[in-house]
Amino acid sequence: MPRYEYRCRACGTTFELNRPMAESSAPAACPDGHDDTVKLLSTVAVTGAASAGRAASAPQGGGGGCCGGGCCG
Ligand SMILES: [Zn+2]
Repeated sequence: MPRYEYRCRACGTTFELNRPMAESSAPAACPDGHDDTVKLLSTVAVTGAASAGRAASAPQGGGGGCCGGGCCG
């Protein structure tokens, strides 16, 4: 079950809840009982995908520079 992090806007505390993905956006009361909370974005999956994508698509050596330099014609 995924874990989501929330922040209470009433007292400023952050807390985590394990709940089904379908309920990720459902209201979550903070440990002190406040229900004015916001869900924080999970950074684990986001950073992992982003770094993998950059490594796979990063150009190496700047290939194709020959024709750009005018030596082909
Ligand atoms: Zn609170």
